[in-house]
Amino acid sequence: MNKAREPGVADAASSTQAGGLPLVANHIGGKIVAPAGGRRQAVSNPALGEACAEVVLSGAADVDAAVAAARAAFPAWAATPPLRRARLMNRLLALFNEHKQELGAAITREHGKVLSDAVGEVERGIEIIEFACGIPQLLKGDYTEQVAGGIDNWTMRQPLGVVAGVTPFNFPVMVPAWMYPVALATGNTFVLKPSPLDPSPSLMMAELVREAGFPDGVFNVVQGDKEAVEALLHHPDVQALSFVGSTPVAQSIYETGARHGKRVQALGGAKNHLIVMPDADVDKAVDALIGAAFGSAGERCMAISVAVLVGSAAERVMPQLIERARALRIGPGTDAASEMGPIVTAAARQRILGAIDAGEAAGARLVVDGRGFRAPGHEKGFFLGATVFDQVRPDMALYREEIFGPVLACVRVDSFEQALELINAHEFGNGVSLYTSDGGVAREFARRVQVGMVGVNVPIPVPMSWHGFGGWKRSLFGDTHVYGEEGVRFYTRQKSVMQRWPDSIAKGAEFAMPNARA
Ligand code: NAD
Repeated sequence: MNKAREPGVADAASSTQAGGLPLVANHIGGKIVAPAGGRRQAVSNPALGEACAEVVLSGAADVDAAVAAARAAFPAWAATPPLRRARLMNRLLALFNEHKQELGAAITREHGKVLSDAVGEVERGIEIIEFACGIPQLLKGDYTEQVAGGIDNWTMRQPLGVVAGVTPFNFPVMVPAWMYPVALATGNTFVLKPSPLDPSPSLMMAELVREAGFPDGVFNVVQGDKEAVEALLHHPDVQALSFVGSTPVAQSIYETGARHGKRVQALGGAKNHLIVMPDADVDKAVDALIGAAFGSAGERCMAISVAVLVGSAAERVMPQLIERARALRIGPGTDAASEMGPIVTAAARQRILGAIDAGEAAGARLVVDGRGFRAPGHEKGFFLGATVFDQVRPDMALYREEIFGPVLACVRVDSFEQALELINAHEFGNGVSLYTSDGGVAREFARRVQVGMVGVNVPIPVPMSWHGFGGWKRSLFGDTHVYGEEGVRFYTRQKSVMQRWPDSIAKGAEFAMPNARA
């Protein structure tokens, strides 16, 4: 990364900004490019509650330019031996490790999460790059010798072409890194459309990809909103699209993409439950609930937003939970003492406040109320306190809908069976966790729960890079999870080759299917 300029910022365009705010532009064909149109949006520093940059909002012409650059780069990149692609990936890995603090700082500046968490996000992204370094092994096909007289049959996996990624605000480095390392390693070229709420890390990553030596046009970034996404969805040269974001958008992208003949994986929202059994270690369960509900201000797709307290667990968990939620250290993400940072935008904060008001009006018991919290010295920041509801019922919006904020809903049930039934009936099925000391219960839970990612005495079971990530039900539209071998399958298509050489042609034309008797 060029240290002479502020990282991730479009230096070519920033000088034209009134008020001196940097402009975050596009990265197309290895260069920072200002878009054709003039639409822009302010980017906030949520801890300060003020604008820290402006991001361009691209239109169809900009998407066209990015796809054209990716398309031009595709033939040579697809023909590059996987081992050479893996060597570039190794260089990218080294650069990511070298710049992880800078990437983390940029995430904290625009997203608000605490720096240690932001760097942790970068590290989880790095793991996918590490996985992609092993691509030659992963692209090995199957081979069957002598499927019939003198005939061999094998399969290979070939790249799709230009593929796109549309990503949410909550993990501006990790979620794009779920996609492009695997897409590039398998020989595709990529267009990323990041969230306009925290766009700078996308340009930093593009710069690292360029510095690692990937050819220009292999990785491109178009900033923007719905307009850019629509252009990608309708573009005839985009072969596949990976999406991560909220469920209504995920569903619409899946349907529109499929209608336009694209391969689509669209990961949506969540309402993740954590069951505490009466035999659980209560201290550990409370630690898990506090970290998983309020880490990153609850703005994680794997955040725990529902605690399901079974039988006597409730009486032991609630007092500790209330005490710990009240004592949470909330402040700017740059302060090493902060455990939770601000909400990403003023609008998101307002939406979460509305959900808390509605939960109270519906009759849930508000036992920790974060609505009045102000961070000393950061009064303009978009802060909210931790909020806990007890006696939440499954018919309440508070239970059914994703809030995506620091709000934990506690539901009391009598038995493990009731807890399981509750979870299996929920529309979302992203992540789930169980705290118990009974191996038999844990085994039944993992086997019967209708959720894609399961933790036992682990609060946030985000799978490792070689296992793949994805939810069930309305948390994922599509057939494959992201990254891991599922990711390799998503970004490649299988070709089967059957081959025979001239000395076996003497038989002349054959009209029956070849088989092992031939
Ligand atoms: P979002 O759906 O608002 O936006 C996601 C992306 O889609 C952004 O790039 C955005 O610019 C674009 N977009 C927004 N509205 C669009 C529209 N109408 N048409 C086309 N594109 C549109 O999501 P967000 O607020 O950025 O992120 C939070 C959501 O993402 C939560 O629901 C969270 O659960 C989900 N999420 C899910 C996972 C997962 O793995 N399942 C991971 C992270 C986040």
